Amino acid sequence: MTKICYPLFLILILLSFSTCSAQEEMDFTRLREAMVNRQIIDRGVNDPNVIKVMRKVPRHLFVPRKNRAFSYDDHPLPIGEGQTISQPYIVAFMTEALKLKPGERVLEIGTGSGYQAAVLAELINEVYSIEIIEALGKRAQETLDKLGYKNVHIKIGDGHKGWPQKAPFDAIIVTCAPEQIPRPLIEQLKEGGRIIIPVGRKGAIQKLVRAVKRGGLLKTEDVMLVRFVPMVSGDD
Ligand code: SAH
Repeated sequence: MTKICYPLFLILILLSFSTCSAQEEMDFTRLREAMVNRQIIDRGVNDPNVIKVMRKVPRHLFVPRKNRAFSYDDHPLPIGEGQTISQPYIVAFMTEALKLKPGERVLEIGTGSGYQAAVLAELINEVYSIEIIEALGKRAQETLDKLGYKNVHIKIGDGHKGWPQKAPFDAIIVTCAPEQIPRPLIEQLKEGGRIIIPVGRKGAIQKLVRAVKRGGLLKTEDVMLVRFVPMVSGDD
């Protein structure tokens, strides 16, 4: 009796586990779809490629387990070490603002969870991302590896210096706020390249600035008010 029942029991347990997580995945897909419709399309993001990617990338897998249920809510979420994953709308808005083309190479400052890097990796050739907190950079790399993103390269370091060995970049996205746009980032941007970056003092509301490099200088426009974590320097 036990000989027959034991394997059957095991199979039932395994089945119940797998259907449970499949159900969970279906729930997250539904939440992600609603997020894209209400938070992203309804607010004016209309680049079809950005919308497609926001529908595809499993944001909940970049969020620590205890906050996973809130992954598709309309706000940033803690990811540990006092840092946050940006609000979905901001990720979509900043990505759209870069006007990316398929073969391009992009530098991100502030890897955090790796979610923004994954969104970029779906749209372009190579993503170079710098994170100053080692534990976060390592965790992001693990998440991206598990999901099969081979075109995201993470470096632990201070993003103020950029990544000169991999420059020049077609576009730069900064997801932490410096007080001014760091000069190395301007230097590492290609002529005609685009940068999107929050600029402002620690604790204050910041301006999200979009700029294009023309004749070696940035032509900037302020696009909205935002609140990002500060861009700390290596000696903070
Ligand atoms: N893009 C991230 C959100 C990042 S939050 C995501 O998709 O999850 C901002 C990140 O910037 C934090 O992880 C913080 O540690 C990092 N950061 C702050 N100052 C930095 C610096 N000087 N260089 C690199 N990363 C920095």
